[in-house]
Amino acid sequence: TEELLKVENLKKYYPIRGGVFGGITGSVKAVDDVSFTVRKGETFSLVGESGCGKSTTGMCLARLVDPSSGKIYLNNANIHEANKSALKQYRRNIQIIFQDPYSSLNPKLTIRKILSEPLLINGYGSKLEIENRVLSLLEMVGLGSQHMDRYPHEFSGGQRQRIGIARAISLNPDIIICDEPVSALDVSIQSQLLNLLKDLQEEFGLTYIFISHDLSVVEHISDRVAVMYLGKIVEMGTTKEIFESPKHPYTRALLSSVPIANPKTKLMRKRIILEGDVPSPKNPPPGCSFHTRCPFKTEICEKSIPSEFQINKEHSVSCHLVENGAIF
Ligand code: SF4
Ligand code: MG
Repeated sequence: TEELLKVENLKKYYPIRGGVFGGITGSVKAVDDVSFTVRKGETFSLVGESGCGKSTTGMCLARLVDPSSGKIYLNNANIHEANKSALKQYRRNIQIIFQDPYSSLNPKLTIRKILSEPLLINGYGSKLEIENRVLSLLEMVGLGSQHMDRYPHEFSGGQRQRIGIARAISLNPDIIICDEPVSALDVSIQSQLLNLLKDLQEEFGLTYIFISHDLSVVEHISDRVAVMYLGKIVEMGTTKEIFESPKHPYTRALLSSVPIANPKTKLMRKRIILEGDVPSPKNPPPGCSFHTRCPFKTEICEKSIPSEFQINKEHSVSCHLVENGAIF
């Protein structure tokens, strides 16, 4: 399969100011050396608890924030060193959908305006062509033309997210980043929207980067999954591998807090209960950043950062004890 997006050693550090003179006294390592690739037509998910860096990763990829360092390639073109016009084109090719569509839809504009604007700015075509495109976009997301001249507040949360999706797909982007797109919605509406995303993907060959803390949603929609903890990817693999044979203690802990439909997998999973909270990213633990909560930790875990260990071609994990065969 074709590699569409390649991310290498991405970092986003935010300076911490403090002290008597308000100087920089440290940094929050929101994203700390993250690498992965996304293949054309797949759904690649970033999963983890809030504050793990998954949203910041998405914002860096959408170039809504500038990464501190690292490399990003889209279709082999280098984005980290792109000039202004290349960056503009890139931004058009990578769209983002947020959790709260209300805050990203201008309340003063009609749906017609909201959907026409990006088409107009990017020189989509004549007035009539844009009008027709807006109509067909509304149809694609299951909203009729009668909605054209209404305002965002006249819609339900689920309908607003449909409008957000229509806007995101309007310019045929290469990648759509979906940051907790259904987390604010009722469960029944969630599955409708997930099915819509899947249908659109199938029809138009879309590629998604799906960001979520909700493992059942992730299992439902993803082809591959990366699990993040304190700014790092700790495990990555196909959805099947991650959900049926998770290796990293953190992945196993996350999964053991989720009710499981498949009784076969249930047998394979030993329950791991996590103690304590996620440490502050201002002051992450040395060595393996999960060691303060890991039931398996040994001396080496406190001293040395585990490197990425390849279990097979599609499955990697960063854990000393998995690597040396001491667990599982
Ligand atoms: Fe636990 Fe050590 Fe593995 Fe980290 S490296 S997950 S502390 S066993
Ligand atoms: Mg978030």
